Amino acid sequence: MNNNFPVDRLSGIETPFYYYNMDILNQTLDLVRKESAKYGYHVHYAVKANANERIMKTIKDYGFGADCVSGYEVQQAIDCGYPSSGIVYAGVGKADWEINLGLDNDIACFNVESIPELEIINELAGKKGKIANVALRINPNVNANTHHYITTGLEENKFGINHWDLENVLEVLSGLKNVKLEGIHFHIGSQITDLTSFHDLCIRVNELQEWFISHNVLPRIVNVGGGLGVDYQNPENAIPDFESYFKLFSEHLDLRPGQELHFELGRSLVCQCGSLMSKVLYVKKGVKVQFAILDAGMSDLIRPALYQAFHKIENLSSKGNVEKYDVVGPICESSDCFGKAVVLPETNRGDLIAVRSAGAYGEVMASQYNLRKLPKPYYSDQL
Ligand SMILES: *Cc1c(COP(=O)(O)O)cnc(C)c1O
Repeated sequence: MNNNFPVDRLSGIETPFYYYNMDILNQTLDLVRKESAKYGYHVHYAVKANANERIMKTIKDYGFGADCVSGYEVQQAIDCGYPSSGIVYAGVGKADWEINLGLDNDIACFNVESIPELEIINELAGKKGKIANVALRINPNVNANTHHYITTGLEENKFGINHWDLENVLEVLSGLKNVKLEGIHFHIGSQITDLTSFHDLCIRVNELQEWFISHNVLPRIVNVGGGLGVDYQNPENAIPDFESYFKLFSEHLDLRPGQELHFELGRSLVCQCGSLMSKVLYVKKGVKVQFAILDAGMSDLIRPALYQAFHKIENLSSKGNVEKYDVVGPICESSDCFGKAVVLPETNRGDLIAVRSAGAYGEVMASQYNLRKLPKPYYSDQL
């Protein structure tokens, strides 16, 4: 049994639901604040990882900003009390109403992904008599998985502006009166556990900085996005190595006087504090496998079905001898499976199951497929 879970109290709550361990969240945020402050770095929380109000307010209380990818997220950040000076807005397809929402609230920056978008932001800002701060999202062509550059492939990515278009972008910018170039922005991917990818990013950013300086432009803000991964295999290893992460940037990314370095961390802040809690409905013996059928399904946590993602599964009720189970949900899809051949103590109807590391891209991606109810959140300090 796991000491971190107040099993007696959790057993009384109607499943499925999300359980957030606020101690883990606070410890994580403490460390991020401490390690980023060493170098004067700015952290924006990537709201798309988990837009739950309590989680967002907790993060805001640490003084972090918000990185949004839709107008709805911008609105949620405002509603949760984030100052507009701490809100940045990225996204490859911003609708006019979303740009207007950002303009009306004087958000800190639009991360711009194309020339047509730049022109529309300029036009909409002009109609309001405002000047919008923009950062250019540049496709750095850095591979997030291996540590080799790829010369094709990543350049076909829908995100960001390619480096050969930058000359053109600067020319267009010089003719736009209602946008101001504030920064350059990068985001190389997600669940990156090999820090060499970030090292590659630093080298690429240094090269691009040289390019900008040679064109007499010094962006005030360098934003290197998010993507730091977590340990899904060992959720007890709850806090990513933020010390090494920020140190790496301090050692390899060359900032010029007056420049700020910004980060947009999502998963690494919130993943390990959350678990999807569920009860076993039935244990069904097949010919070769036995199924543990949960009352939680892919509508509650879609990552295993969507990305074949691994989540550690624990039976918090049983101390029996271990057996193997295919752990599945009740949804009418074969992909509604949380794990195959999962080793669990002997499992029976009514046992409480925790699907770990579900704090990021969990609750926020829940749907009402099969007309199910959305899972509710519960918090360790409010049980
Ligand atoms: C998704 C996203 C992030 C956060 O990614 P994580 O892997 O959750 O840290 C940051 N910036 C942008 C632009 C994103 O799209």
